[in-house]
Amino acid sequence: MKLLISRNSFQDRSSIFVRLGAPDLETPKKPCFYKAFFIPSNQFNIQSGEIMKLDEKLVQSCKDFIEERFPNKEIEGAAAMYTEDGEILISTAPEVFNSFAGLCHEAGAICEAYKKNKKITASVCISREKDGTYIIFPPCGICQERLYHWGGDVEVAVPKDNQISEWESKKLNEVQPFYWAKPFLK
Ligand SMILES: [Zn+2]
Repeated sequence: MKLLISRNSFQDRSSIFVRLGAPDLETPKKPCFYKAFFIPSNQFNIQSGEIMKLDEKLVQSCKDFIEERFPNKEIEGAAAMYTEDGEILISTAPEVFNSFAGLCHEAGAICEAYKKNKKITASVCISREKDGTYIIFPPCGICQERLYHWGGDVEVAVPKDNQISEWESKKLNEVQPFYWAKPFLK
């Protein structure tokens, strides 16, 4: 299956064409071989000044959840995210025997926001070690891709000055300045 993204005649939409047909076709000359997923451009726009910024409250809510959900001091983690109206969504994910089947801690909150039709504006992912140390994890490449659904202005927590327990905020477009789909973002 081949993924193509192109501008089409709609001024405010991008299209993702997923090739469903024979592998020797290189261009979408035969639309019947493609399924188009239209992405409204407003899903990529976050107006500056309206977003909930990453702050200590969000970070602490993530730590509090970890302590409440996992009181036995094992290595566990979670992610916390602001939606644009200030709701905090928190999720975690279980370890599984086959790591290919594992989910990132962020996945649940991302799906929850989408279910509620809310924009995510900030995200933090934290792991607690056995000694109680908290480690700030930037979103992995896959989660950066997932969070880019809401545009490059989404803020994510990264370790501050390489101190693993301290955080600072970076926008996705700072973490990944050459994001592959940037030409299709408004
Ligand atoms: Zn991830």
